[in-house]
Amino acid sequence: MSIADLFDHFLFDLDGCLYLRDQVIPAAPPTLAELRRRGKKILFVTNDPRSVRSFYAEKLNRLGIEARAEEVLGCGWATAAYLQEHHDLAGKTVFVVGPEGLMEEMRLVGLRVVEGVEAKNADFVVVGGHAGFNYQEMMIANFALRNGAHFYTTNRDATFPTPDGPVPATGACLAGIEVASGLSAISIGKPEPGMYEVARSLLGSGRMVMVGDRLDSDIEGGKRAGIGTVLVLTGVTTREEAIESGWRPDFIVEDVGGLL
Ligand SMILES: [Mg+2]
Repeated sequence: MSIADLFDHFLFDLDGCLYLRDQVIPAAPPTLAELRRRGKKILFVTNDPRSVRSFYAEKLNRLGIEARAEEVLGCGWATAAYLQEHHDLAGKTVFVVGPEGLMEEMRLVGLRVVEGVEAKNADFVVVGGHAGFNYQEMMIANFALRNGAHFYTTNRDATFPTPDGPVPATGACLAGIEVASGLSAISIGKPEPGMYEVARSLLGSGRMVMVGDRLDSDIEGGKRAGIGTVLVLTGVTTREEAIESGWRPDFIVEDVGGLL
């Protein structure tokens, strides 16, 4: 009996799990191919708020891992899907503090993206970190929130890794808006249950498992969502850290090959 036998749907984290930056984890291509052969459903889950499904699918394919764009669940898409599930969006407006790709996700679920003076009365404020973040955006978001807008963020990641070191991410931009408004956003990306709720509605019923390298996002998120969790040791976490953690994973494997 292998871990793979215990589950029907597999959610995979990307960096640290299937690849390290641009280098594939050698066990990943044969393992995912075998899971597909056994009829398992796969989603690739990322906290990247940009609309980058095809980017990740192409990267995975280049590394020898079969992936289709519609199998890549980014937190921009997840946030849009969550809003659609929990609100009536007909005729509603959104002020997006984030990249163009995130605005596109909002349009795809029927929201009208507004800017400037009109945005002060937007029905929703959605935050996703982007390089163009500025004071004007913070100010408009603050007005909209004080006027009663629903407040969402794609995730709360403080930084993301680059070759030069960690750089500010969504959580850093969000903090300014939360401090100014005195309000707290609902976050959708890992480790919040929203991301997993969207995954569940995409995959349907069945036994679901999260496979990833981080205790504070992948494993905490899976645990809070009530699904199975597998920690791989190919990323940032050691076995000792995992054993001592408050979010102890159900299984610890050297790499994704351990699923089989
Ligand atoms: Mg990772």
